[in-house]
Amino acid sequence: MGEFELIRQYFMPLARLHGSHSVVVGPGDDCAVQRVPSGSDLVFSIDTLVEGVHFPFNYRPDYLAWRALAVAASDLAAMGAAPSCFTLALTIPEANESWLRDFAFGLGKAAKSFGLTLAGGDTTCGPLTLSVQVHGFVEQGSAIFRSGARPGDLIVVSGPLGDAGAALGYLEAQNPTRDEQSVLESYHHPQPRLELGLALRHLATAAIDVSDGLLADLSHILEASNVGASIERSRVPLSSALTRLKGSDAIDYALHSGDDYELCATIAEANWAKAPQSLKQQLTVIGVVEPAPGLRLDGTVVVSGSEATGFDHFRRKA
Ligand code: ADP
Ligand code: MG
Repeated sequence: MGEFELIRQYFMPLARLHGSHSVVVGPGDDCAVQRVPSGSDLVFSIDTLVEGVHFPFNYRPDYLAWRALAVAASDLAAMGAAPSCFTLALTIPEANESWLRDFAFGLGKAAKSFGLTLAGGDTTCGPLTLSVQVHGFVEQGSAIFRSGARPGDLIVVSGPLGDAGAALGYLEAQNPTRDEQSVLESYHHPQPRLELGLALRHLATAAIDVSDGLLADLSHILEASNVGASIERSRVPLSSALTRLKGSDAIDYALHSGDDYELCATIAEANWAKAPQSLKQQLTVIGVVEPAPGLRLDGTVVVSGSEATGFDHFRRKA
């Protein structure tokens, strides 16, 4: 099967499925054409997943497609952007039709679930690698940045955290228990918090999606905003499955491991007080932004200044 036949058979059909009105020209021409609604800012981001680095070798193709799109869509959520369309650069070692069929199936499911239409892409031969570029829109000037946190803001997370990180230990399990299946599902099918991101637009001062671990990602907000924070271990939301599996270590997964794609945001107390109950139910307050730089966990500095980006509990252990 040639490159063009492959694109026509597996990817063109997806492009017609979940039509974003703003995509004027989809796959098939030299470029896609997207009309930016007047009064909107275009928000876009690209993420690459490499086999053996970002996902295991021989990973299920339908799960891979879901993860790739979810990871990219999660960045739109963190900015408060409404999802619109995506392009896919796919590098595959061979044109294996059953792999492609399953991959396209997973991609279609994810695209529908996240409201993203396939606008184009590139297909090449080589070691399995995917890049997904997502486009979204926000009302002009209303994107949520990492840099807006102010002392006194409450720090909230959608949760629970840590499940996807713990799942890495069970990927090879032959007969996973119910709890193991539950955390595995968080790894295989992360749910980008798109609705929540939209709801946070006029409430949050800053937001980020938790891809590298709560401490690392919250630190990015603190550095970008030139502030510090105090958070409490006991407030971090944990799933009962993770708690049963890991006992008192569960919190370490929630603090240090990534792949959860929940949102962490800062909100002025006055805005939190008047936030709708439906929004509050999805969020847990874990701490407060402070003027002094550094991130304090139960009073002890865990991340200060430039340490933030290099902080990786599991890598250090290995
Ligand atoms: P060009 O050589 O002009 O860059 P390509 O041959 O790479 O064009 O792609 C032809 C068309 O097929 C383009 O419109 C491109 O967007 C689309 N396309 C290629 N690969 C994919 C893919 N994996 N998913 C969706 N569209 C794709
Ligand atoms: Mg090309």
